[in-house]
Amino acid sequence: MGTIDGATLMARSLKQQGVDYMFGIVGFPVFGIAGAAQKEGITYIGMRNEQSASYAAQAAGYLTGRPQACLVVSGPGVIHAFAGLANAQQNCWPMILIGGASPSYQTGMGGFQEERQVELAKPYCKYAHGVDSIARIPYYVEQAIRTSLYGRPGAVYLDMPDNIISGEVDEDKVVQAATVGEPPRSQAHPDDVEAALSALESAERPLVVVGKGMAWSRAEGEVREFIERTQLPFLASPMGKGILPDDDPLSVGAARSTALREADLVFLMGARLNWIMHFGLPPRFAPGVRVVQLDISPEEIGTNVPAEVALLGDGKAVAKQLNSALDNRQWFYPAEAPWRGTLKEKAEENLAAVAPMIEDESAPMNYYRAYRDIEEWLPEDAIIIGEGANTMDIGRTQMPNRTARTRLDAGTYGTMGIGLGFTIAAAVVHPDRPIVTVQGDSAFGFSGMELETACRYKLPIKLVILNNGGIGGGIAELPTDGPLPPFSLTPGAHYEGIMEAMGGKGFYVEDPKDLRGALDEAMAFDGPALVNVRINPKAGRKPQQFGWLTT
Ligand code: ADP
Ligand code: MG
Repeated sequence: MGTIDGATLMARSLKQQGVDYMFGIVGFPVFGIAGAAQKEGITYIGMRNEQSASYAAQAAGYLTGRPQACLVVSGPGVIHAFAGLANAQQNCWPMILIGGASPSYQTGMGGFQEERQVELAKPYCKYAHGVDSIARIPYYVEQAIRTSLYGRPGAVYLDMPDNIISGEVDEDKVVQAATVGEPPRSQAHPDDVEAALSALESAERPLVVVGKGMAWSRAEGEVREFIERTQLPFLASPMGKGILPDDDPLSVGAARSTALREADLVFLMGARLNWIMHFGLPPRFAPGVRVVQLDISPEEIGTNVPAEVALLGDGKAVAKQLNSALDNRQWFYPAEAPWRGTLKEKAEENLAAVAPMIEDESAPMNYYRAYRDIEEWLPEDAIIIGEGANTMDIGRTQMPNRTARTRLDAGTYGTMGIGLGFTIAAAVVHPDRPIVTVQGDSAFGFSGMELETACRYKLPIKLVILNNGGIGGGIAELPTDGPLPPFSLTPGAHYEGIMEAMGGKGFYVEDPKDLRGALDEAMAFDGPALVNVRINPKAGRKPQQFGWLTT
């Protein structure tokens, strides 16, 4: 038997554990790992910034159902990638970050890019470890991948010193590891399943909240059956959109605030009562709202509002239990319940409130007018990435999702900069599907150089920038004197030129009547395309009763 080097053993172990994609930036000391990964059959995508690489890895993990990898150099490379580690952890998405490290025999000496990487990674992940022996690489990879995937998913980190990467070991000394199987699907206690259904039956104004935990657990079939059978009104969380189609008659997305405020019982299915759901507290929820909570994480149960019934287990398995238990009940939520009327009325009122903005043909256009054309243009099976302030918030309401895991956005952590990493991951994982990204001009700036990555790999992504010349609000033109407002960005900046310079196709639109034509041309173009749309800097959302962060 011969010898094997650490880089090859790392690549082989990752492949064994179902890692098919690696996003990263090579440099000392990790060159060898990327090359070995390609030899072992892992698709390697070279990015331009470690943040984007780690955002891409987690989106690929969410879309494939297995942790995917991010590879970065020591010191600053690892520090940049922490942005993604933190985002993955907050989103409960799996990923594995592999950081190069200075040689272990130089620890404490001030080595090149020496940093306390394992220590610093710990708060952002479920598991962080230094690899201290070449022979045990498969062992560490198995432990990391299993920890990332099992239970509530999350990020993991492995630290690879230079001498472990380039060192060699006799093949017969390698500690072999088992292949991590699909996560076991835990079930809720049958008494709790009955209690949950009884609670729902007793509610006057029930509301089901469908979150991305159900999308992650591939529970879309079971959730659809549950909603069809119970006829309960439901609200999708931002990335829970599509588990059921947004245009389902039982969706109350268009009456979101009223549904949350007036429900007497909320059934959380893989969704959290964090800031996105206004903590489940007044004034956004009724005082004393009853909560039934399905989650895989015991620690999550009762967060901010005590749960009357806890369904602790895997989303897909528990939804199946609920459906089986329904066989013994004749019940469904009655068609004539007054609650349905309240929600329908409110939804119609909300749609009427934005109708004038949708029809407004003035230039530069407002967000709703821009989204009118975008919505009509969106292919049915598109994966939609949304990022920005108004661009993301309004886009969430105007761009429908019809299948699970077709929306990626700033998520639980509210991260700006995820857009292009998520876009590239979606395009790599789903080469047969249209990938459409709608970003604000500020959001685009955080990772704009990844356009070069998209062009280099010939990924046919379609990017729309809603360009209001600022962060949140914008400016119409640069002031001739006085300081620039802190929120300002260059009005009418020609971001489409960056796309052209990298080899893709760019369009610039100011008049709403030109938008649809540009979108169609972008879609027809066989490669990456960017449509830069000038938006009125004063445009915003419809007047809100509460600010977006109001508790
Ligand atoms: P959303 O933003 O859609 O509300 P969150 O990320 O806030 O979604 O919540 C998702 C919840 O789903 C988390 O509390 C997480 O523990 C839970 N979860 C993750 N995986 C599963 C699973 N397999 N089954 C059930 N719940 C899950
Ligand atoms: Mg902007």
